[in-house]
Amino acid sequence: MKLHVLNTGFFKLDGGAMFGVVPKTIWEKTNPADGFNMCTWAMRSLLIEDGNKLILVDTGIGNKQSDKFFSHYFLHGTDSLDGNLNKLGFSKKDVTDVFLTHLHFDHCGGAIEWNNSKSGYRPSFEQANYWSTENHWEWATKPNPREKASFLAENIIPIQESGQLNFLDRISDFSKNCFNEIDVLFVDGHTESMMIPHIKCKGKTIVFMADLLPSVGHIPLPYVMGYDTRPLLTISEKESFLNQAADKEYILFLQHDSVHECCTVQMTEKGVRLKETFKLEEI
Ligand SMILES: [Zn+2]
Repeated sequence: MKLHVLNTGFFKLDGGAMFGVVPKTIWEKTNPADGFNMCTWAMRSLLIEDGNKLILVDTGIGNKQSDKFFSHYFLHGTDSLDGNLNKLGFSKKDVTDVFLTHLHFDHCGGAIEWNNSKSGYRPSFEQANYWSTENHWEWATKPNPREKASFLAENIIPIQESGQLNFLDRISDFSKNCFNEIDVLFVDGHTESMMIPHIKCKGKTIVFMADLLPSVGHIPLPYVMGYDTRPLLTISEKESFLNQAADKEYILFLQHDSVHECCTVQMTEKGVRLKETFKLEEI
């Protein structure tokens, strides 16, 4: 198995929204804000080469939204999903599976693109099976007012219409699924049934953190995003995950940290804290 980081670009989100109840005087030390109180975040995907499978975990924000929509998020940098896939020697047709941790636009926007005449949408990965889970799909297609702006119908409905949608079974909170070396943890604090892949590679466990832990700045337990629908549940899910991560020396792959690709954590007197940061290629 081979793992590749696939940067799809940087965007900006309000720092206060990203840190919930934590005051700016504290969070700005790790995440400096611009004059509009916005902080820079990565949209980092993971590409997994495993035998004859090429699995893409999350797709970034994509490129089909309006200029007005994108202007709210200050996209910047030279990275793109297509460009970086090509740099690795692959094309979109080579992707066999698209694993979507959840259907917020910054995670799944790149899954769907305009068709040639720009009259409708099509899956960006025409040969791929797309993976979600039934509870989350139900939640995202009948969105609550709080998350409505994050679940965009054009990112979601065309996946189902294409016939390429598949559901992973949620049997318990931690299910073994159809991918050989990947177990999936289901968590419900950020949104209903977000899927956190645990990938076994080179004798280590690499965990794609998605929005359970956006950055190293979110490791202390009360540092929970204002976007989370069930923040107290996030705290308990984070606590049990981080205890396990420290104990089992998991490598945490950070989707949104603008500086650090990966980190490990350790138990301290204050609870679980950052141990080391590094690039995925260093493992
Ligand atoms: Zn999210």
